[in-house]
Amino acid sequence: MTQLIHRNLRQTPPAAVCAFGMYVRDGEGKTYLDGSGGAAVSSLGHSHPDVLAAMQAQLKTTAYAHSGFFTTDVAEELAARLAADAPGDLNQVYLVSGGSEAIETSLKLARQYFVESGEPGRRVFLARRQSYHGNTLGALALGGNEWRRKPFEPLLMDVARVSPCYEYRERPAGQDVNQYTADLLAELEQKILDIGPKNVIGFCAEPVVGATLGAVPPTPGYFKGVRALCDRYGMLFIADEVMCGMGRTGTLYAIEQEGVVPDIVTLGKGLAAGYQPVGAVLVRDHIVERLRAGSGVFQHGHTYNAHPVAAAAALAVQKLIQRDCLLGAVTVRGATFRRMLRDAFGTHPNVGDIRGRGLFLGLELVQDRDTKRPFDPDLKLHAAVKQKAMDCGLMVYPMGGTIDGRRGDHILLAPPFIATEAD
Ligand code: PLP
Repeated sequence: MTQLIHRNLRQTPPAAVCAFGMYVRDGEGKTYLDGSGGAAVSSLGHSHPDVLAAMQAQLKTTAYAHSGFFTTDVAEELAARLAADAPGDLNQVYLVSGGSEAIETSLKLARQYFVESGEPGRRVFLARRQSYHGNTLGALALGGNEWRRKPFEPLLMDVARVSPCYEYRERPAGQDVNQYTADLLAELEQKILDIGPKNVIGFCAEPVVGATLGAVPPTPGYFKGVRALCDRYGMLFIADEVMCGMGRTGTLYAIEQEGVVPDIVTLGKGLAAGYQPVGAVLVRDHIVERLRAGSGVFQHGHTYNAHPVAAAAALAVQKLIQRDCLLGAVTVRGATFRRMLRDAFGTHPNVGDIRGRGLFLGLELVQDRDTKRPFDPDLKLHAAVKQKAMDCGLMVYPMGGTIDGRRGDHILLAPPFIATEAD
């Protein structure tokens, strides 16, 4: 039988036949409240008329023009807008089709930067355990999620790894949070020294960790310390904001809240809020200037780079975030949502932690609140939670992470920014 391959090869998911505002409806007429924006994508809700109109207008003028031949006003305007709203001199923008492509682009750009800087010996990336940066081979190699990597290990480049900043589970009982942060930074520095600073290209991390840990923010000062180490050893700091960026945490870029400027920022998901597949890489001026003055080309490129309709969708989303003051709304609604979650689950025996920023919240599920013992991985609790929620007409994004060889489960909540208290 000829058929579409789904993620779960044994189960066909319900067909989404229409989606509007906070809801998605299936072919049986059942309606689901979108509590996770899919996978933290649909930040404006579904069928927003302004985004649809912007896409339609673009389709009628230039639906597609290959970026090897042409640029378009809409792509230039989007780039200018993203750069203007980004911290520091992250002024150079490369547009791709999604998060993994953004990561691949950032890896190649960082490597080419050092090749053209006369430091071809720099060839190692550093990232964290229990991280996720995408499913293409470079992005998968960068990520530290053991389950996702395992079958493909022989195909993946070597990436050096350090501990995630994951206070709930990894800060030793009784240890001061500043000491915990200092220890993490010392571990990172030691890793750099072990590899040899002149061999390291850069360090990649999510400012607020999404899929693998469930909306885990950094400890105070962690990213300031990361920035300082990158500066000390001449490495690049890549902030992966594919999931946490574009307003989800209450600022357009999640890293703004850490008071540091990365060298490269990757975007996806919320960039066009699901209306088109699009991703972006923001780069500091001096990196692109080096290539411009050197070879004059970035040795990369995809057929759908800077796709005009995708750019139109993303630009419309950016305008709506500003016009409707959605960053402030995320902060206010996020605080309300968090309070409601605490009221409902704060003392639940199987909810170990409630955390996150803005409308990017996570609940960690445990067998025992005191010992933080996770559930048995064979239970596949996260899959059961997802199914139960769908049965109840609710979309949430549960995940099982790998914790010291065991699995811990969490539920990620990332509703559209238009969610009301009633939703
Ligand atoms: N980086 C992060 C932090 C992500 O969460 C994801 C996807 O979940 C990606 C990269 C990959 O993005 P995509 O699925 O659009 O390729």
